[in-house]
Amino acid sequence: MNYKKSIIGSSIAFIAATSCCWLPALIIAIGGGSTLIGFSNGLEKYSGIFMILGLGLLGYGLYEYQNRKNSSAMKEAILQSTITCPECGHKKEETMPTDACQYFYECEHCKKVLKPTGEDCCVYCSYGTVACPPIQLDQDCC
Ligand SMILES: [Zn+2]
Repeated sequence: MNYKKSIIGSSIAFIAATSCCWLPALIIAIGGGSTLIGFSNGLEKYSGIFMILGLGLLGYGLYEYQNRKNSSAMKEAILQSTITCPECGHKKEETMPTDACQYFYECEHCKKVLKPTGEDCCVYCSYGTVACPPIQLDQDCC
């Protein structure tokens, strides 16, 4: 009994005596381990956040995409314009080209060839009820 106690005592003393060497190592080991665990836990937490964030961004992107599609649809130019002939007052609804401006327009009634007046870029801007598509969309005119 005493023999065992002395062995335990001496080993405790030995451990205690050498604690200056292994204690910092143990603390570092535990600390490092817990830090690593904490880090991976954090990463796991963050990966959840990132996933939510990613999904959120995806949703936002889709929302924005939808919005842009809607707003661009809303911004779509009116292509129907009724031209009133300044010579005879004849009205005719015409479909405007979106890719080009119509500079000349022949009145189907009096055969007068109309040309834009002033600074206008096309006959629709001068004689039509609706300005030409580029003007409607605030774009530079052709
Ligand atoms: Zn006319």
